[in-house]
Amino acid sequence: MNEEDSEKLAGMLKVMGYEETLFRDKADIIIFNTCAVRESSENKVHGNLGNLKILKKNNPDLLIAVCGCMMQQKGVPEEILKRNRHVDLIFGTHNAHKFPEYLERCRTENTQILEVYEEETEIVEGIPILRDSRVTAFVTIMYGCDNFCTYCVIPHVRGRERSRKPEDIVQEIRKLVADGYKEVTLLGQNVNAYGKTLEEKCSFADLLRQVNAVEGLERIRFLTSHPKDMSSELIAAIKECSKVAQLVHLPIQSGSDAVLKRMNRKYDREHYRNIVEEIRREVPGVAITTDLIVGFPGETEEDFKGTLEMVEEIGFDSIYTFIYSRRKFTPADRMTEQVPEEVKHERFQRLVDVVNRKSLEINQAYLHQVVEVLVEDFSKNTQEYLQGKTRTGKTVNFKGEAEMIGTLQWVRITKVGTFSLTGELMDKEVS
Ligand code: SAH
Ligand code: SF4
Repeated sequence: MNEEDSEKLAGMLKVMGYEETLFRDKADIIIFNTCAVRESSENKVHGNLGNLKILKKNNPDLLIAVCGCMMQQKGVPEEILKRNRHVDLIFGTHNAHKFPEYLERCRTENTQILEVYEEETEIVEGIPILRDSRVTAFVTIMYGCDNFCTYCVIPHVRGRERSRKPEDIVQEIRKLVADGYKEVTLLGQNVNAYGKTLEEKCSFADLLRQVNAVEGLERIRFLTSHPKDMSSELIAAIKECSKVAQLVHLPIQSGSDAVLKRMNRKYDREHYRNIVEEIRREVPGVAITTDLIVGFPGETEEDFKGTLEMVEEIGFDSIYTFIYSRRKFTPADRMTEQVPEEVKHERFQRLVDVVNRKSLEINQAYLHQVVEVLVEDFSKNTQEYLQGKTRTGKTVNFKGEAEMIGTLQWVRITKVGTFSLTGELMDKEVS
């Protein structure tokens, strides 16, 4: 979500005539699009802003802006300005569409601006967007969240859940396809609850079918599904729609029923198991990925073992693991039994060891298989190799030509790793 917002900020800057530079000392404007989900990302912002003091002193025309979720938290923008007088512009997530106007005012009036809307506005359509990739695109389908998991800051900084109209989404995707895009990732904090705020009824399953009908589009991914809202209707749509990836990201967060309850996740281990079983039965070969938090307040060694157990039992394709981070104004922050830092870190390490072993084990099944890869770009470190993804979201590196970027290719897997696969190109073309 944050990345997609950054692409919109870049899009607005492009329309205003700005170009990207890779060098800080060449920039006319530097903008930080902050994240508030964990403390570690907040600390980076403070460090980075401090470092810009000298740059601003040497170049008083440099404009420094800070926006994003951190700015939606009470007292944070004021604190940032107090510590960093060299910041020119601050705005929040709810008024990000006004960025061009603020920038213009900063420049012409030579003034400092701090403006954050406390509440969300109507969805603003048509914001220009400069995407990182020319193959795969993020498409936000809904904003905000109503779930209020007790550890999470998102409902407090992103506002209430609201869905974009299906016709606006489909129109955006048609345009993307006309521009050469092959894949879209439908984004929302809880995509399987899509549609509740719409005047005309449309469920996420309905939306998937509509997007699946867009001619020229090859693949559809979506993020994130909440286990409590995973319906049989949706699983049937995933099965039925040929373009929908065989990949479901289904954050479990913990493998202990007691912890899940205190997290306000509204499902238990049994429910989670049943959903995974149904998805695997209906969509053979599907990859299941998840998010996990260790060290939630009151998590005992037994609770933690429950998490390790679920990791072993479910066999996730990959897992994003997080150390619980206290967030102001959330109920979990007020819970008395906070887990000591050293215990959190020790559990985290044990978890990561199990997670990595399991991922490698699961990836072994890909060895010698021929998979369909949507080629996204060159590999990060070398232009000799290309990088793309399978229908199950696995990253594959293989030797190929630049013209293959944006095409589907058959690749035979020759080597598997914990986080990616390596293969060789097959002669036949994907029809
Ligand atoms: N809406 C999505 C994802 C939200 S943020 C969902 O419900 O799954 C992405 C992940 O960050 C979450 O799934 C969770 O695992 C993690 N996260 C959120 N708040 C956190 C916190 N306070 N400390 C540690 N991890 C957190
Ligand atoms: Fe946060 Fe829970 Fe909403 Fe996800 S569903 S954004 S974890 S409150």
